[in-house]
Amino acid sequence: MKVGVLALQGDVREHLFALNECEVNAIPVRRAAEIASIDALVIPGGESTTIAHLAQTFDIFDPIQERIQNGMPTYGSCAGMILLADRVLDATQGQKTFGGLDITVRRNAFGRQVDSFELDLNMEGLHEMMRAVFIRAPWVEQVGSGVEILASVFPSENVSHAVAVRQGALLATSFHPELTSDNRIHRYFIEEVCKEISKFG
Ligand code: GLN
Repeated sequence: MKVGVLALQGDVREHLFALNECEVNAIPVRRAAEIASIDALVIPGGESTTIAHLAQTFDIFDPIQERIQNGMPTYGSCAGMILLADRVLDATQGQKTFGGLDITVRRNAFGRQVDSFELDLNMEGLHEMMRAVFIRAPWVEQVGSGVEILASVFPSENVSHAVAVRQGALLATSFHPELTSDNRIHRYFIEEVCKEISKFG
């Protein structure tokens, strides 16, 4: 199995490192031929508007969108979550996403002044808590019925927002596991989400 990390902008190296730690063949991808050659994709954290803009400039926006629509397992962290979302709140004018995940995300949801913070998250399926790093992160405001919520934050009483979700072959987190030495999310992507791979082209 070959996993591509979309290498237009953002923390590409950190994802490649985490995937290598999971003993998987991971390569940076930025050309149409490379996109066509991979079995699964990781969209890194960074700036969703910049990544979408560069994908159009490099003529790989449509090929990536097509592969996602055809079921290629894809994991997006932070900006990557925004790029996988079908609907974005606080988007810039005309901001495009690849879509595929039936969720509504809010960009910079924790407040623009809150640049970054860390917290311990309870993650579905993991026995121990996960230290999660949030950097100008989105959260999920609405999910479609086919979307499984894997972790949530509770910004105030009676309010919760999903920060990790899965829908079939698509996985997204608001936070950046690639910035810690905890590879459990990458492993979950490789071992559980990509399991679906043989069904897809
Ligand atoms: N706020 C950024 C965006 O809208 C995401 C930040 C991140 O990936 N750390 O793309």
